Amino acid sequence: MLTAQPTSRAAAAELVVDRIACDGFGMCAELLPELINLDDWGYPIVRSGGVPDELMDHARRAVAVCPVLALRLRRSVRP
Ligand code: SF4
Repeated sequence: MLTAQPTSRAAAAELVVDRIACDGFGMCAELLPELINLDDWGYPIVRSGGVPDELMDHARRAVAVCPVLALRLRRSVRP
């Protein structure tokens, strides 16, 4: 299993959850536990700090499986 470690450079993308659209199915957290945890009600909590390069494929997969299109990748603004 990959472990998300802080990187020395800023991440190129970050995960964003539309909390209105999210139905809390939790599939994203199953596919990307390194970056997404679920709260007590099953709604995702995304780790801050962006998506490390080595987890981008997993992040894209998590976005693709969201049944209500509530999860998306947004390009990060590099400092
Ligand atoms: S897969 Fe989509 S609907 Fe399910 S918890 Fe994640 S963001 Fe919410």
